[in-house]
Amino acid sequence: MARKSPRRKPTASKPPSPDESRRRGRIALYLFFVLVACLAAGADFVDQRRPAPIYPSPALTKTGRLSDYLPSLRGGRGDSDVYIFEGKRPGGTLLILGGTHPNEPASNVVAVLMVENLQVEQGQIIIIPLANASGFSATEPQEAFPLRFHFINRSGRQRDFRVGSRFTNILDGWPDPIVYRHHPSGQILSGNETRNLNRAYPGRPNGTLTERVAWAITELVRREEVDLMIDMHEAAPEYPVVNAVVAHERAMDIAAMAVVELQICDLDFRLEPSPKNFHGLSHREVGDFTPAKVMLFESTGALQGRLRATTDAELVTRSKDALYHRADRIGKLQVEFPAEGVPIEVRVGRHLEAIRTVCKILGEFEPDQTIDYSRIPGYDELQHHGVGFYLN
Ligand SMILES: [Zn+2]
Repeated sequence: MARKSPRRKPTASKPPSPDESRRRGRIALYLFFVLVACLAAGADFVDQRRPAPIYPSPALTKTGRLSDYLPSLRGGRGDSDVYIFEGKRPGGTLLILGGTHPNEPASNVVAVLMVENLQVEQGQIIIIPLANASGFSATEPQEAFPLRFHFINRSGRQRDFRVGSRFTNILDGWPDPIVYRHHPSGQILSGNETRNLNRAYPGRPNGTLTERVAWAITELVRREEVDLMIDMHEAAPEYPVVNAVVAHERAMDIAAMAVVELQICDLDFRLEPSPKNFHGLSHREVGDFTPAKVMLFESTGALQGRLRATTDAELVTRSKDALYHRADRIGKLQVEFPAEGVPIEVRVGRHLEAIRTVCKILGEFEPDQTIDYSRIPGYDELQHHGVGFYLN
């Protein structure tokens, strides 16, 4: 027989003591602060994934996505906009990559400035401003990089740009292997290089996100029959390859002529051959795996360097740093680093002038690959008006 459980007498709840009330109040206050901190950090985190808007020139003829060249990228964070400007007259096809390394801001600024102003008269220009879109959603750990910098455009509005990470966001490719084995060469590099787009070419369609992005770009070069590809970068003033044009052997003649012309115009560029046994780089692999002539342009900025002091948005745009200037004065740098710094107008202007010169020489060497365009400022115009003047 089931026993009846004894009924409990209801107890009257005692009011908390004053000490207990104070303790509960403190806990509620701490929880409130934790919630506010979580919301603020969460909003900041989500905000990092918001790409800065681009307002294309009315002469834009077509847009696409990298996923058009590799459908598995669709809807993911490796997918990126592709802007296509077709001229009225047939000619060559130029592909411009900005943002291969999202911590090298001038390359992205050049690509955006071109998308917002370009008019192509002859041939075709394809621009990918955020080649490694995932890298723009992260920041460089332990580098104290600003997340954004800005320009004031010609209408007086602020235009924000992101500073990202050199690598694909770790959340899009976690975990890194201990060593990265490049496909197909078998070259071994440190594990984090598995997320470096400029070590992933020619890529593979079923590889990591970074390898798939590289493969989509290589596939675009093949499918769009790109004649000339330019991959833009920035590097530390102490790095040996700065203010340079690095060229695959099939692009070497054009690059050499362009460097001579640039030097005549007082823009000092070095010419570097693409190393044959250093694999994964755009100029090496896209040059080897497609018929395109491939070059990489490298400007210089203090943001990428190890000597830099205060790292903020002003360092991105003005690149002024007393230690770098001192290092230059005692002959420790590869390039000149003036007291007034190397402003973004100089870095962007060098890239723009180099693109223009290379296109001109390409048309002289291969008339059927002529690429003629207008409405893009030259180096001097950009120094005069500033970048913001050319943003919509
Ligand atoms: Zn780079």
